[in-house]
Amino acid sequence: MHVNAYAASSATSPLEPTTIERRPVGPADVLIDIAYAGICHSDIHTIRGEWGEVPYPLTVGHEIVGTVAEVGADVTKYSVGDRVGVGCMVNSCRECENCRAGEEQYCLNGNIGTYGAVDRDGTVTQGGYSQKIVVDQDFVLRVPESIPYEKAAPLLCAGITTYSPLNHWNAGPGKKVAVVGLGGLGHMAVKIAHAMGAEVTVLSQTLSKKDDGLAMGADHYYATKDDETFTTLKNHFDLIVNTVSAPLELKKYLGLLTLNGTMVNVGAPPEPLPIQVFTLFTNRRSFAGSSIGGIRETQEMLDFCAEKGIAPEVEVISAEQINEAYERVLKSDVRYRFVIDAATLA
Ligand SMILES: [Zn+2]
Ligand SMILES: [Zn+2]
Repeated sequence: MHVNAYAASSATSPLEPTTIERRPVGPADVLIDIAYAGICHSDIHTIRGEWGEVPYPLTVGHEIVGTVAEVGADVTKYSVGDRVGVGCMVNSCRECENCRAGEEQYCLNGNIGTYGAVDRDGTVTQGGYSQKIVVDQDFVLRVPESIPYEKAAPLLCAGITTYSPLNHWNAGPGKKVAVVGLGGLGHMAVKIAHAMGAEVTVLSQTLSKKDDGLAMGADHYYATKDDETFTTLKNHFDLIVNTVSAPLELKKYLGLLTLNGTMVNVGAPPEPLPIQVFTLFTNRRSFAGSSIGGIRETQEMLDFCAEKGIAPEVEVISAEQINEAYERVLKSDVRYRFVIDAATLA
């Protein structure tokens, strides 16, 4: 099956309209008519070869929502017409300890990314900037009725990437949570942490998005350009979620953690970060990382967002605006996630 898509043919070429092949619908597969696909910063890093070699031509996109158009003979979880989503992975070994624990993102044999990965049948996966996708039912999520498609899309990466660490480190009533950076990931971290009942502080370079941050549920907002911030908030937070993918002066941020506090990274700077271990001795602090979430937890996140009435802030674009949108993402000129209307791929 050939479907319209946008792809890049090299690390330096723009994304252009093309067609890609989707596998025939197998017994456990679901064919999805894509409605919207979000633009994640990872799409840009990947397609430009910044995170290692990738197979070209490549179609990216791992924030996918749409409607089930066809199901395989053995599919029990979904029916034609269901509202569904696909996130950052489309397969895993399903046998290792982590897969069996429902943490497929940490599959010991490597989860299969939604794009640019070699699937277990040997084909290269192609992402969501396309009209249709075929995915095994076990890696498909149900999108609650109350979340509009275009707003649901970014939940599949930005939503779960922030929900999972907030959930794991027990953000909730009585906990002080800081979110570093108010971009695609950060704005979801603020909304989710607030909905979980935590006291939320945004740490952003400047106060330029302060009104937005407070409207999203932040209780406090500080500029990290102002050194005073690091004195005022010393030994203060139970959890810091760092969504920034540029290197930070870690010592300053770790100093903000209270007893048993954790700073978890969900943004990924490509270069190593130096860490002063003495900073961790104080208050028995931890420095951690977290990667997306398992399928079960992703469904829990979607249901949580529906129940709490929270959703990303999005700007819908047409497919021909993708390259321009990339430039704007790189300049942080987006409030707060671009979502491609897949109807414009027709
Ligand atoms: Zn992503
Ligand atoms: Zn596994």
